[in-house]
Amino acid sequence: MPSSPAGFRARFRSRRIMNFTESVIREMTRLALEHKAINLAQGFPDFPAPEALKRAAAEAIAADINQYSITWGAKPLRNAIAAKYKRTYGMEFDPEREVTVCCGATEGMVASLLAVLNPGDEVVLFEPFYENYGPDTQLCGAEPRYVMLHPPQWNFDPEELRRAFTPRTKAIILNTPNNPTGKVFSRQELEYIAGLCQEFDALAITDEIYEHILYDGAVHIPIMSLAGMRERSILVNSMSKTYSVTGWRVGWVLAPPDLTDSIRKVHDFLTVGAAAPLQQAGAMALAMGDDYYTRLAADYAGRRRQILAAIEDAGFHCYVPRGAYYVMTDISGFGLGDDVSFCRYLIETLALAAVPGSSFYAQSKLGTRQVRFCFCKKYETLESARRQLSQLRRTAAEFAG
Ligand code: GLN
Repeated sequence: MPSSPAGFRARFRSRRIMNFTESVIREMTRLALEHKAINLAQGFPDFPAPEALKRAAAEAIAADINQYSITWGAKPLRNAIAAKYKRTYGMEFDPEREVTVCCGATEGMVASLLAVLNPGDEVVLFEPFYENYGPDTQLCGAEPRYVMLHPPQWNFDPEELRRAFTPRTKAIILNTPNNPTGKVFSRQELEYIAGLCQEFDALAITDEIYEHILYDGAVHIPIMSLAGMRERSILVNSMSKTYSVTGWRVGWVLAPPDLTDSIRKVHDFLTVGAAAPLQQAGAMALAMGDDYYTRLAADYAGRRRQILAAIEDAGFHCYVPRGAYYVMTDISGFGLGDDVSFCRYLIETLALAAVPGSSFYAQSKLGTRQVRFCFCKKYETLESARRQLSQLRRTAAEFAG
């Protein structure tokens, strides 16, 4: 018998979970609910999904599409995904051998990493990062190697990136348009990254879920479309952000046939498959015309304008995003302590939730002056947030005094 209750507990804590903590983003949502706060923390829309899409899902259930679909995805959805990439990027994918439907991009990323990484491999990650990639890498027993994106433009130093690649590098994870910075990687940057992948025989594993949320003429380029990258890229995406259905958990992975074989094996044993009726509705969503995506981007541009005005008026320094639906800010001016104290203050005093910057960095001290707000919210929600934030300078002064 173990000697103590603590010893007993420790026995059942695997080594693979020791190096990371629970998601701060998702913790902030729980805190927001507890404090009845406006949630500008976790990136999910509080407005309805498109009517036609909801109807398609309801109709699929009524039509008895309620049993497992083929494990790697219902055929109509895989066909629609292939057709969409052909239409949007001129890229050809074989729905039978190169498309895997997963439970969200989250599973797509984990399944891809589990399929290609061995313990001891290294994975290059840009920092600040969306917080899943580090734990995903560690769950595979691989080691993350971080490369800084430097504000205000969130550029990387090409030499620093080159130094991060070693003979042990198996992959780089690239998220463009980027969460949390709003950076959209340029063709030139992607070509440089592609060159390193080829030189070091590494894969580019990309999270492209914000592909259609772009501002100021920014253009999204899948690195997989660059010369020499078709065979060494894994593209992860999902319905969540493009169709405002983050709770549906329908995503996909595009990869050459040999990689797809490995990814499908992991996916099959992890989850069997994504929700069948929602995949059916997904086939309808991916067939929507270009005007849907134009409207989506224009609509988010309006929300971006509104949040930027609100947080700039409240005294934040903002890093204006060129894509995705988050704004990183600098909070040094407020005298309310570091990012974590600041977010605690915001939620307890002004009933507003945001995400502490340190949760996007491996070395948390790099993010202590930053806070992320998301703006995938109704105009009324953003207006309520503006009202709350307009009190910030006054309440902060009282707090300090
Ligand atoms: N992408 C969202 C964010 O960064 C959260 C996604 C999630 O929690 N699964 O807020």
